Amino acid sequence: MESTHLLTSFQDFGLAEPISRALKEENYLTPTPIQTQTIPIAITGRDVVGIAQTGTGKTAAFALPILHRILENRIKPQPKTCRVLVLSPTRELSGQILDSFNAYGRHIRLTSALAIGGVPMGRQVRSIMQGVEVLVATPGRLLDLVQSNGLKLGQVEFLVLDEADRMLDMGFINDIRKVVAKLPIKRQTLFFSATMPKDIAELAEAMLRDPARVAVTPVASTVERITQRIIQVDHSNKPTFLANLLKSETVERALVFTRTKHGADKVVKSLARAGITADAIHGNKSQNHRERVLAAFRTGEIRTLVATDIAARGIDVDGISHVVNFDLPNIPETYVHRIGRTARAGAEGVAISLIAGAEEMGYLRDIEKLIRIALPREDHRTPGHREAAPPPAQHRGARSGPRGHTGRGSEVAAPGSKGPRRNRRPGGNGGAPQTNRHETSRQEPSRPAAQASGKAEGMQGVAFLHRESRPNTRPNRTQRPR
Ligand code: AMP
Repeated sequence: MESTHLLTSFQDFGLAEPISRALKEENYLTPTPIQTQTIPIAITGRDVVGIAQTGTGKTAAFALPILHRILENRIKPQPKTCRVLVLSPTRELSGQILDSFNAYGRHIRLTSALAIGGVPMGRQVRSIMQGVEVLVATPGRLLDLVQSNGLKLGQVEFLVLDEADRMLDMGFINDIRKVVAKLPIKRQTLFFSATMPKDIAELAEAMLRDPARVAVTPVASTVERITQRIIQVDHSNKPTFLANLLKSETVERALVFTRTKHGADKVVKSLARAGITADAIHGNKSQNHRERVLAAFRTGEIRTLVATDIAARGIDVDGISHVVNFDLPNIPETYVHRIGRTARAGAEGVAISLIAGAEEMGYLRDIEKLIRIALPREDHRTPGHREAAPPPAQHRGARSGPRGHTGRGSEVAAPGSKGPRRNRRPGGNGGAPQTNRHETSRQEPSRPAAQASGKAEGMQGVAFLHRESRPNTRPNRTQRPR
């Protein structure tokens, strides 16, 4: 499963030094499959059409070659223009994409801005007044800016269309066609979609010239040798339940997943109180610590390792008898990726998920749709806490479609709403033009943005990644190269 991207390293792509340096600082050690496939092609200037879902690392797959190419020919953008235009369906995704560009471009004084709906246009107009290198936008707002003469599209050299299928679902296709009609014909286009139904393939056909096709295989079938248990518990009982589980089960080696770094540390502490030695690996731990802990886990000195999804990438330890989902992942493919850590090399394995509350129940139903299996629940909640539990997803074989998409105006998200968005941006700063170069602001994903098609292909070649929390320490203000 990891082999595809272990074959390559970021050095092999020949990315400009300041970009490689930023990647090291981001702790990107190995490219993901979509990056391995896309970067070498896109860096040559060729159009690419890619099938890839959220969490596969596709943002870097398009952002890195584009940044490299704008550096190859660094020209100052003309007023009210941009060199790179990225279209994305929601304001949250747009914000994340901009954060990623700014993170990878932190050593090159990148100028960038965000143009999203739901906020007054004035600041956005001002942020692009002098021209920017990268503009990330939702289609409706972009057109408004163009129509009000705040933006001219005649200098766009690179176009990225992200989550095209979701754009279609949200009714943005006509807006996209209008935008594309205003772009120079000579440009590089990178087009990504989680699925490729006919309308999307036609749109791609109309927008791309001789594109290279790349794809990461959708995850659909769960590894069959794994016994999957779903245990409903009260939220407050999760730590105790986990400790008892680890004591009572025939656990040789357990990998416990949490969604956040903080959560991982808390689990380690609560296990320590219960007399169980465990250690955590996650983004805040040093490489030395990570290596020490992994070595101890391999030798059996530590039997329980607690990890976040991203830290667990690349862990190659045989003999993991149990995977425990202390928190259920909000991206269903991540579940499959997690549980695939057990039952390696022909062994049997057990995957146990502790579920508390309606939100996790929602994630569970997404997972069941993806793996097409209704997983039986074991109810260990205290009677007072039992709320009406929804039954398992009945429709074996059902394909999962994008959830909860609202209409065209949904780029304007209600604060606190539980839409299909991956990451909700903290601090309600979604409306401000983002021109900061250094800090990125990320949160744990909240909901899958797009789900895999139901094709049963196993999980080879797929690595799903999670964004980890990082506080936004930088004020929101315009910064331009001096
Ligand atoms: P994306 O699918 O682009 O939203 O990426 C999901 C998450 O994975 C983001 O938090 C990225 O920062 C992270 N990521 C992307 N590529 C890599 C990589 N090669 N190594 C480690 N993390 C990555």
